[in-house]
Amino acid sequence: MASSAYRNGAHGGSSGMKVDRPVQVANIKSSSFKSRLTPSHSSGSALRRSSPASFASKDGDGVPGRVRVAVRLRPRNAEELAADADFADCVELQPELKRLKLRKNNWDSDTYEFDEVLTEFASQKRVYEVVAKPVVESVLDGYNGTVMAYGQTGTGKTFTLGRLGEQDTADRGIMVRSMEDILAEISPETDSVSVSYLQLYMEALQDLLNPANDNIPIVEDPKIGDVSLPRATLVEIRDQQSFVELLRIGETHRIAANTKLNTESSRSHAILMVHVKRSFMGGDNIYSNENGDISHLAKPLKPLVRKSKLVVVDLAGSERIHKSGSEGHMLEEAKSINLSLSALGKCINALAENSAHVPIRDSKLTRLLRDSFGGTARTSLIVTIGPSPRHRGETTSTILFGQRAMKVENMLKIKEEFDYKSLSRRLEVQLDKLIAENERQQKAFEDEVERINIEAENRVSEVERSFADALEKERLKCQMDYMESVKQLEEKLVLNQQQRDFDVFTDSNCIGQGPGLSAAEELVELKKLLEKEIKLRKVAEEEVKICKRQQGQDRQSEAGGSVEVLKLHKILENEAHQKKKLEEEIIILRSQLLQLTFEADQMKRYLDGGGSGNAYTGLDSSMSPFRHPQLKDAVNGQKASIATLFEQVGLQKILALLESDDANVRIHAVKVVANLAAEASQFLKNNEGSQIYISTEANQKKIVEAGGLTSLLVLLRSFEDETVRRVAAGAIANLAMNEANQELIMAEGGISLLSMTAADAEDPQTLRMVAGAIANLCGNDKLRMKLKSEGGIKALLGIVRCGHPDVLSQVARGIANFAKCESRASTQGTNSSRSLLIEDGALPWIVQNANDEAAPIRRHIELALCHLAQHEVNAKDMISGGALWELVRISRDCSREDIRSLARRTLISSPTFRSELRRLRIEY
Ligand code: ADP
Ligand code: MG
Repeated sequence: MASSAYRNGAHGGSSGMKVDRPVQVANIKSSSFKSRLTPSHSSGSALRRSSPASFASKDGDGVPGRVRVAVRLRPRNAEELAADADFADCVELQPELKRLKLRKNNWDSDTYEFDEVLTEFASQKRVYEVVAKPVVESVLDGYNGTVMAYGQTGTGKTFTLGRLGEQDTADRGIMVRSMEDILAEISPETDSVSVSYLQLYMEALQDLLNPANDNIPIVEDPKIGDVSLPRATLVEIRDQQSFVELLRIGETHRIAANTKLNTESSRSHAILMVHVKRSFMGGDNIYSNENGDISHLAKPLKPLVRKSKLVVVDLAGSERIHKSGSEGHMLEEAKSINLSLSALGKCINALAENSAHVPIRDSKLTRLLRDSFGGTARTSLIVTIGPSPRHRGETTSTILFGQRAMKVENMLKIKEEFDYKSLSRRLEVQLDKLIAENERQQKAFEDEVERINIEAENRVSEVERSFADALEKERLKCQMDYMESVKQLEEKLVLNQQQRDFDVFTDSNCIGQGPGLSAAEELVELKKLLEKEIKLRKVAEEEVKICKRQQGQDRQSEAGGSVEVLKLHKILENEAHQKKKLEEEIIILRSQLLQLTFEADQMKRYLDGGGSGNAYTGLDSSMSPFRHPQLKDAVNGQKASIATLFEQVGLQKILALLESDDANVRIHAVKVVANLAAEASQFLKNNEGSQIYISTEANQKKIVEAGGLTSLLVLLRSFEDETVRRVAAGAIANLAMNEANQELIMAEGGISLLSMTAADAEDPQTLRMVAGAIANLCGNDKLRMKLKSEGGIKALLGIVRCGHPDVLSQVARGIANFAKCESRASTQGTNSSRSLLIEDGALPWIVQNANDEAAPIRRHIELALCHLAQHEVNAKDMISGGALWELVRISRDCSREDIRSLARRTLISSPTFRSELRRLRIEY
């Protein structure tokens, strides 16, 4: 939506404006051509100066631009049509050439060039489009912007800016049209527009939306130069209608106030301030360093807020006092009006001339426009003129005012804040939602368990009850049967007794008759009874069996119940699994939140610190290729964040996430571990300026003990994703600063994994991490042979294919470390053979880069050469490889005294070098 004509307007863009050099107008003989002179700085880069001639006090990266100036001619009004009928207009416009000719007399005229020349026929729509629309667009992009109208009373300033266009829509002025465009562009959910409307009269600011509110103070932020009016009424605008209504109210108040003050509106400045606040996601470029390299951690998009301000100023009439015939109070008033106007003129002059002092503080108007005119804002000025020759003087001074303004350059600066608070809030909300969801599920889970338990218990007790009932019934029945039979038997017994008594009685009557027979009958009878009893018992037993079977069946149905219970258990297990996943997510979010809060902190500190330095420092001589800004006061914050992370998430859990099935989780986890490893070490400068290494080794130890190093190495082996490998390599590089870790890395095959990563990687950041890790390993005396045999040196030399100076510096550091270990070993007598570096073919690269223009690379290589040269067995190879020349150079030219004398001593102490130097007739 940017208007290229506007953006390029100043410096040879497509608009066709050639403001930088005077136009040759060959056929205008008697005209003096008054175009602008070439500004002293005409190239784009020269504009990025920290111009003292800027309203803004603070410099920053910005887009250069220039105040854009249009001139508009009012058509003759009725009076002029009648009175000036016989006179020609005092100006002649050449809109296609963007020129205006101001007639001095019949034969002489001056020609001026403007960004736009708007004739008396120019429509309000066109005027808006060429004058204000580009400013409105840049305000929507986050810059401050100003549109001002300057000119004699009655030339159409208010017509141009303030027309509401209620009778005729085509008449709508710049204020109304600007708001229409703003409202159409913003999104109501995330953005907001609010408006203040003020009048500046006799150096007093009055609220036009609440006239009782007078003498409003201007508040300036000394740090960022922002200007605000905390006491002015600020109305949020939701639709066009309410805005037009507001303008109408403001206009009414203005007329009322001016009547009270016995003046006209043309004597006050009317100022409309439109504040636009927009939210959006972005922010990656914040992390790029000075070389434009994006930081090694891919940053998630962040919510940002852009605040900008459009100021529309309907200036008081520019006419001189004598023209309005003022006296007394009017004179005082005219002075005040002129104070603001003339201060504006002075500021414009100072800015145009690039002068060291811009008198902003001389008036309310210039103080108010401090952050919106010149300086950091885009500005358009429309100068309005009338055609009448009677006002030639005023018209001329108006035109000259506009001409000077055309030389004022702006340094545009976007006002963007990282909205870490809202991000943190959003993450917290998400976290809370997950926690609530987790809690709900936990509750549902527990309820379900309880329900199932109760159900199972009910079923078991029901079965038990029915079984007990059945048993009781059976028992009663058996008992009854038993009693019945006992009763029968007793009856029988009584009967038998009676029979026997009777028999005895009859026997005594007739001895020898039938007693044997009746006993036999009785026996038979008893047998029968017995059989019956047995049968009854069998039936009873049968029934017991049936009962038992019944019970068995009941048991089975109970077992059926437990199948259901099993099913439910399974569901519960699933739920538990899900719960675990949710918990994992919470861990990730927590750690993400922490990381972001930490970064936000860093960023805030970085911004508070005046933005000096980069958010992520690149490395030069440091051992750590992967670290956070080394701000002293950041250390506590970092420690705090590690502590919180350990405490809240648990290192084990984070490490477990390294093996998660979800690639995103894995990537995130490795970043967290890398950050932990990086945070665990700090470099601080001590008083003498040398670096001291402060290791919160305990934390690194924790990572290693928890298996973090192994996990990181596994990631190098198994991971295809370059980001993961880069971050993992960075973390390993940091851990590799510790001697114990170095041995562990070697023992776990780390060097071949790093070599492999180096061979595959293209990205300089990855290569820097890998080279840094290997360089750290190279500093360990014990690992020398192993490094060589497992291809460590070759891997380092392979990395030089990437010419990035940061990478090369790590390689050079590795070589220097290795050479140092070798020379130490030779001094101690544990090494007598040729350098393994020479063996692996490092010498040509060393010689080639010994005089590299990058100081860190050069220093490392110079040291490496000195170390190599200290061992006599290397001398021959070094001579044939051209290293001797480099040593001679170092001994003479090196800016560091210690290295210079080391080189000299080395040369002198080697017989081979000495004889070669003699042969070459080099005096030593
Ligand atoms: P200023 O605000 O500069 O004092 P105004 O905007 O009040 O001037 O204009 C003075 C008169 O001229 C008004 O009646 C206005 O309608 C008329 N006028 C100004 N510019 C134009 C124009 N471009 N076309 C038609 N009428 C205009
Ligand atoms: Mg006016």
